[in-house]
Amino acid sequence: MRRFAGCCRFVWNKALVLEKQTYEADGKRLCYYALAGKLKDWKKEEETAFLSEAPSQILQQVLKDLDRAYKNFFAFRAGFPRFKKKGVHNAFRYPQGFKLDEGNSRIFFPKIGWVRYRNSRRVKGTPKQVTVSLSAGKWYISVQTEREEPNPVHPSQSRVGIDMGVARFATFSDGNHVKSPHSFRKYEKKLAVLQRKLSKRTKFSSNWQKLRERIQRLHRKIAAVRNDFLHKTTTTVCKNHAVVVIEDLKVRNMSRSASGTMDAPGRNVRAKAGLNKSILDQGWFEFRRQLAYKLTWLGGTLFVVPPQHTSQTCSHCGCVDRQNRPMQAKFKCVACGFELNADHNAAVNILRQGMPY
Ligand SMILES: [Zn+2]
Repeated sequence: MRRFAGCCRFVWNKALVLEKQTYEADGKRLCYYALAGKLKDWKKEEETAFLSEAPSQILQQVLKDLDRAYKNFFAFRAGFPRFKKKGVHNAFRYPQGFKLDEGNSRIFFPKIGWVRYRNSRRVKGTPKQVTVSLSAGKWYISVQTEREEPNPVHPSQSRVGIDMGVARFATFSDGNHVKSPHSFRKYEKKLAVLQRKLSKRTKFSSNWQKLRERIQRLHRKIAAVRNDFLHKTTTTVCKNHAVVVIEDLKVRNMSRSASGTMDAPGRNVRAKAGLNKSILDQGWFEFRRQLAYKLTWLGGTLFVVPPQHTSQTCSHCGCVDRQNRPMQAKFKCVACGFELNADHNAAVNILRQGMPY
C-alpha cells in the first residue's frame, strides 16, 4: 500500500513538472486526457516502469485530482498546486474494482486482495469509491457512497447569527456563546517540547524513531480533540436553528504571514502570528463546512454574509462609528447609549445582514 501511495505521489509530481513546463513554454496547460496519455508512455519507459505495478485506475485518479487542482487555481478557489513531499500524504483512491464485504469486515482491492478492517460505522447506500490513506502510522479506508434521501424539513423555525472570535469561539445572536477549548494550547506546548527533544537526537536512531512516533500520536490526539469539539458544536447549532448566518472571514488571507516584505515590514507580527495560530487551531473553515452540510441534511440553510462593520454598528439604532467600541469586550453606542457584549452585538448585526426582514 505504501508503494501504491508512492506511485501516486510520483505521478502527481511528474505531471505537475510537465504542466509547469508546458505553461512556461506556451502559456497553456495539459488537460486530463493529455496527461493520461503521458502516463501510458511513462509505464513503457525503463526508468519509470515500476508504475505498472500499481493499478492504472488509482494513478488516473491522481491526474484527475491534479486537473481539478488546476481548475480551482484558475477559478481563484485555491492556491497553485504544490509538489507532494514523501511521507506527508500517503493515499490512493479506487473509483471501482473494489468489493466491500461488510458482514466479514473485509474489503477487496485490485492488485492487493482481501484486507480486513475494523468497522467504525455502517455503510449506507451504494459505495462509489474508496480512499486508502495512511495517517500517523495507521491505514484508514473511507468509503464514499450514494443514496437517495427524501427532502428534509427542519423541525425548528429559529434563526441565529454567529460571530466568530478568538477568546469566544462563537457568540450567538440570542446571547449564548461557546468558549474556545483551552486544551489546544496545552497540547501545543507539549508538542513544542517534544519537537525540541527530537532535534537533539541522532536522526533515524531507535530513540529518535520512538520519539517521532510519540509526536505522531500527539498530532492525532490534537486533531481528534478539535474534531470532537467542532462536531459537537455544529451539531447543536444545526439542530436548534433552521437558518444560520455567519460572516465570510478571509481566514486564508489572515493566516498568511503577517511579517510583510523587506520594504514594508508588517506590524504586530507577534500578535498576528498568535491570532493566526489560534484561528487555524480552532478550524473556522471546518466549522463553516460542517455547518453547511449538516444544515443541508436537516433541511436548514446557511447564509454567509460579507463582513461589514459588524463590530462597529449599533444593533439597536444602526449607528456606525469607530468610537462605538471603546473596549474589546464591551459595545457602547455613541449615538443612543446602547450597551451590550461586543460579540453579542456583532452576532445580532450578522443575523440582520443575512435576514434583513
Ligand atoms: Zn445606538
